[in-house]
Amino acid sequence: MNVEEFRKYGKEVIDYICEYGTNIEERDVAPTLDPGYLKKLLPADAPQSPESFKDVLEDFERKIMPGVVHWNHPKFFAYFPSGNSFPSVLGDMLSSAIGSIGFSWASCPAAAELETIVMNWYAKALGLPKAFVSDAPGSTGGGALQGSASECVLVSLITARARAISELKGQTSVHDSVFLPSLIAYASREAHSSVEKATKMALVKLRIIDADERGRMRVDLLRQAIQNDVNAGLTPFFVVATVGTTGGCAFDDITEIGKVCRQVSSIWLHVDGAYAGNSFILPEMRVFSAGLEYADSFNTNPNKLLLTNFDASALWVRDVMTLKSALNVNPLYLRHEHLNGVDYRHYGIPLSRRFRALKLWFVFRTYGVKGLQEYIRNHMALAKKFEMLVRKDERFEVRNDVHLGLVCFRMRTGDEPNHMLLAQINHSGKMHMTPAKFNGRYVIRFCVTYEHATEKDILDAWSQIKSMAEEILRDHQLEISSAPTTPEGTERTSSEPVAPVAGKPPIKKKLTRTKSLRFSFTRSISREQYQSQSEHLMDGCTPILVVDPKALQENFQQAAADNERNNNNTNNNGSSNKNGSAGATKLKDISDVDTDEASN
Ligand code: PLP
Repeated sequence: MNVEEFRKYGKEVIDYICEYGTNIEERDVAPTLDPGYLKKLLPADAPQSPESFKDVLEDFERKIMPGVVHWNHPKFFAYFPSGNSFPSVLGDMLSSAIGSIGFSWASCPAAAELETIVMNWYAKALGLPKAFVSDAPGSTGGGALQGSASECVLVSLITARARAISELKGQTSVHDSVFLPSLIAYASREAHSSVEKATKMALVKLRIIDADERGRMRVDLLRQAIQNDVNAGLTPFFVVATVGTTGGCAFDDITEIGKVCRQVSSIWLHVDGAYAGNSFILPEMRVFSAGLEYADSFNTNPNKLLLTNFDASALWVRDVMTLKSALNVNPLYLRHEHLNGVDYRHYGIPLSRRFRALKLWFVFRTYGVKGLQEYIRNHMALAKKFEMLVRKDERFEVRNDVHLGLVCFRMRTGDEPNHMLLAQINHSGKMHMTPAKFNGRYVIRFCVTYEHATEKDILDAWSQIKSMAEEILRDHQLEISSAPTTPEGTERTSSEPVAPVAGKPPIKKKLTRTKSLRFSFTRSISREQYQSQSEHLMDGCTPILVVDPKALQENFQQAAADNERNNNNTNNNGSSNKNGSAGATKLKDISDVDTDEASN
């Protein structure tokens, strides 16, 4: 393609994008196709001879577009938002056009320097502790853009693992892998499955901690689990707290978790705020970022809630040297003479890096912090509106605390009618939502995602949801439970008989259960595994340990008694264990830890 053709088709593509965005509501939000649809439409081999770009564009509209789920559609309420905006698209276009591979300062100075500047803008806009801002006086921290939150979690875990192994190893020449069996990480049942994946890849154990009825990690159980593991000779090295869980957008109490982590020097506290971390751009949401001063690392995805298109995920650490030393490799062919230029290849997994900072810079400049705040506040107001509509209808209930854009709701029936409702919603092609299990209940996740979402979108969606629900209730002659909306609200399981409504004849209508029914948005730590009763679950490489609160309590009491006895013996022998080796560490009560111990 020559430059004139590029100019011509480039303009056509921009026109196409404008048209697409303007008239997106004329398209179904999601296709109802079966896998393999595209194979039937495209040849099995690449063309030998060049084809005209016009033909390619036409095929794009006729063959590709019908298989697209429109994540930026006003009726897309699934998952979390896929951040997107025109400024971001334009920034990304320039990044693609430049096509630089910025692994080191020397390989693209502008990419390296803009990334540092934008990450500091971003950190300050979110009100993050100064320790994460690389240009703050005395800071040893900083941030880098990664491809995904999963990568951020993995990079943090690998760094924590390297630090813990280095401490255990001391000056010995023992191979690092010798220490792997003793390392143990912790995350809540509601944490994202990327934590489980990261521990699998890093060959370390993961202990899953139960969550309370609002989906927040039980800090008392975390504390007990760590204590038990320390007593058992394990090395707790990584704890993940989540701000904005995938299933119900619950916010873990970072302060309380941080206080526990501070008591064991080998623990690295990572805070995953993939979606909701961005909301800290609003001062009123910073009640949930309290405690971040305890964190060693924090991630949030501008490609979820900051109008920046995929891929862009921000990771900050309070000690860049620890991160770099965990990932540093320095072959001759990558070295350069500008030693004070930042080489972002040491901040993550890939060598090659796209110029991602450009799109984020475009977004910050064209919206301003105020514009981004307005956008998030609009999502919050609309989610509240939807919540209010659901709560006003006694046939439904809302299961989560609605703080941001996510509302988890269900009919006050058993799970099966709710499966049917979601199937109807998604099969209609007119709205798109996903399921989750929140606090042990099947819920339908309704997430406000569209950049320009309005109250009308919410009202329209609610009216359609209601009429679909009415149809299901009528056709299946279901009664609604009058139980209040409580975490333990009555639930009828699908195996229980449903009581027919008196006086109404059954209406025979076949409900199409689409394939999407089988799909479940269980992106948190494997719930199937969690729900299993067994205590040790093999995940294919190392045991995942599930906390049984009762057994844990008993173990804890036993371990505390043993510990007490050991301490007495140690004191009587006049020796002390200064390096804090596992058996001798005793965690203080959380209330014993002074907040001042947490520095910025
Ligand atoms: N963490 C949380 C809390 C999430 O909700 C998600 C995805 O929704 C992730 C991590 C994984 O994000 P990514 O797709 O960027 O890896």
